Amino acid sequence: MKKVNYILALVYLIVGVNAFAQQKELKSMDLYLLIGQSNMAGRATIDAQSENTSDAIMMLDKNNNWVVAKDPLHFDKPYAGVGPGLSFAQAMLEGKKDIKIGLIPCSWGGSPIKVWSPGTKYFENFPYDEAIQRTKKAMQNGTLKGILWHQGESDNDPVRSAVYLSKLKSLISNLRRDLNAPNLPFIAGEIGYFNKENFINQIVGQLPKEVENTTVVSAKDLVDKGDQLHFNTASAHELGKRYAAAMKIFESGKFDLDEKSVKVKDSKNSQKRKVKTKVVLTFDDAEITHFNNVAPLLKKYGFDATFFVCEFPVKRAEEANEYMNWKQIQQLYKQGFEIGNHTGHHKNLAKLAPDTIKKEIAYIEDKCKKFGIPKPISLAYPGNRNDSISQRIVKAMGYQYARAGGVKYYYPDKDNNLAIPSFTVISSDKYKERTLKALKDIKEDEILVLTFHGVPDVLDPDYSTSIDFLKEILIYLKEHHYEGIAMRDLEK
Ligand SMILES: [Zn+2]
Repeated sequence: MKKVNYILALVYLIVGVNAFAQQKELKSMDLYLLIGQSNMAGRATIDAQSENTSDAIMMLDKNNNWVVAKDPLHFDKPYAGVGPGLSFAQAMLEGKKDIKIGLIPCSWGGSPIKVWSPGTKYFENFPYDEAIQRTKKAMQNGTLKGILWHQGESDNDPVRSAVYLSKLKSLISNLRRDLNAPNLPFIAGEIGYFNKENFINQIVGQLPKEVENTTVVSAKDLVDKGDQLHFNTASAHELGKRYAAAMKIFESGKFDLDEKSVKVKDSKNSQKRKVKTKVVLTFDDAEITHFNNVAPLLKKYGFDATFFVCEFPVKRAEEANEYMNWKQIQQLYKQGFEIGNHTGHHKNLAKLAPDTIKKEIAYIEDKCKKFGIPKPISLAYPGNRNDSISQRIVKAMGYQYARAGGVKYYYPDKDNNLAIPSFTVISSDKYKERTLKALKDIKEDEILVLTFHGVPDVLDPDYSTSIDFLKEILIYLKEHHYEGIAMRDLEK
């Protein structure tokens, strides 16, 4: 009896130690998240290099199990093939012993950048959410070292590329937040130069200047497999090596990658840096007091602002004197302020047919063009009224920010940038109190957007803000070291 127990104990011990050793081995993996569309998923023909597997490179399979990595890494389509992932991992292993790599394939062929956001569905999947879930699962067995992104073919046109950088920045910030890795290296890859059009690469190229710990790998001289869209096998391998070269620079702590300003920031420093509280100042309806009173005050205190202009319908001819003419709006632009679109004639967009909404928006764009003012990227819905149709049109017309009402703070990482909430400012006692409380209560991850009308408002005293109250607000910002910004600077 005793002997049997002894043997059993020995068996348990051996099995236990083995399981422990395996677990320990898995724990030491360097993890890399692979996201994007078809060229990251891989569409090239499988060759010998793809078959050259080793248990030093593992991948998280479709069912969240670790298996030895082998092309196709991805499972987005039955015809997934060779992408840059495996050769990236092979190159990362070169010259290193005792490291083990864990790849987390999460790319979806055809996915545009807009589906890479929390809660967004793409056919039957949620690309962003699933990437987060799988990465968190993977992180039980290793340390997340970086993200490889290859995407852009689905956004490679003038309209989509215009908002691409802003979306990419949001994606990076969401990923770093949700993976609790504020300085995680993020490497984007250029799309093939063989694409028929190329709007994306020059946009992606701006990333390293805009976001720390990011870089871009070139797709120069890479060759397609004959479809002017997907890399062939040799080019997919080469792209993987380029990703590895960039990642090694991050990991070595040497920051000069080509001429691009890659800065690897140490986490202690970036946490210490106090982010300035931001208040977005917006002024609606192109009232003459904006030109006469507001702009000089903003200049005096050194703040920026957005003037949302429209041609407000007047009932009597003399009322026209209460609004700016386009020469005056042009002056505000020349003084450095942002001119935003408040639509042509201040109609309720939620009640208009799509074609009319487009015309109302285009009306202001045409006027801006005529007066040498750049096409606005910010819009304020007239009366703050909007719905999913108007939001969709505003987005399709290239707007990066659209302001609504709602008396709430704006959370840039979570909230819809096409329905940015704001507080209307009026200098009645009740509204004064509300505004001052809103200024006082701002938390670190919140942005306060203020909406003003006339300062003062002669035609509509119910919406009036006195010059003194505006001054009081500006002085408050100054004394509390808040930044008064234009809507266009929300992501800076
Ligand atoms: Zn208005």
